[in-house]
Amino acid sequence: MSRRRQIYEGKAKILYEGPEPGTLIQYFKDDATAFNAQKKGTIQGKGVINNRISEYVFTRLNHIGVPNHFIRRLNMREQLVRQVEIIPIEVVVRNVAAGSISKRLGIPEGEMLPHTLIEYYYKDDALGDPLVAEEHIACFGWANHDEMQDIAAMAIRVNDFMAGMFAAINIRLVDFKLEFGRIWDGDFSRVILADEISPDGCRLWDMTTGEKLDKDRFRRDLGGEEEAYQEVARRLGLLQDDAGPSEVLDLTKHRKLRGK
Ligand code: 5GP
Repeated sequence: MSRRRQIYEGKAKILYEGPEPGTLIQYFKDDATAFNAQKKGTIQGKGVINNRISEYVFTRLNHIGVPNHFIRRLNMREQLVRQVEIIPIEVVVRNVAAGSISKRLGIPEGEMLPHTLIEYYYKDDALGDPLVAEEHIACFGWANHDEMQDIAAMAIRVNDFMAGMFAAINIRLVDFKLEFGRIWDGDFSRVILADEISPDGCRLWDMTTGEKLDKDRFRRDLGGEEEAYQEVARRLGLLQDDAGPSEVLDLTKHRKLRGK
């Protein structure tokens, strides 16, 4: 497919104008960034795997009635999506303490939270995506009350679905980030799930070994990020050489095989 006009380039994806009005082509890059782009690198093949994983998750979410922007995958790195008006909020859902909540509140990483937490971060690179309260979202008009109700309900449904989906392949869903957007029908709008769901924006821990199978391998210089992303795809049955039931991942062995 010939490339169309570029609409936006983000850290991990590029958006191009789609073939019909109201559609976009979402291109998945291998580029990886962390700590508000202070750390940059590439994870070989990440774009291809994230495109597949996101297709899989969004398709299944669609089947259970979580409206989202995914239309269809076009090729290895591209998918056709509905154009949305992005709501400038990152919605983080947490089941287990890790990352910024552990740092901010001194909760040891790995501690189960008493119940699932939803947090909101204002999407602004210059400010480092600060944590905000629902009052800020209402006060500054980033989303209205009804939209926030829908967002929270969808976030919980996504969490319930994904926690089960990953548990079935021996992976603990620690936390993840979602983004939502508005679609308009005349004067009326509704909120749908947008962006992507992949190991870039989730914390995924092997339930047996505790091994991290997500972008924290890159953020924390653990190595083996390619293998970790592939392992998630393999366990979901998305790789052609799928070896069947999941086994306990030995990242050290994988890294040795690659000479790293
Ligand atoms: P934390 O707030 O602990 O850094 O991140 C919580 C969860 O949201 C993690 O799964 C992390 O991957 C995801 N997350 C938060 N902010 C971003 C972001 O800007 N980009 C991506 N890819 N994931 C994010």
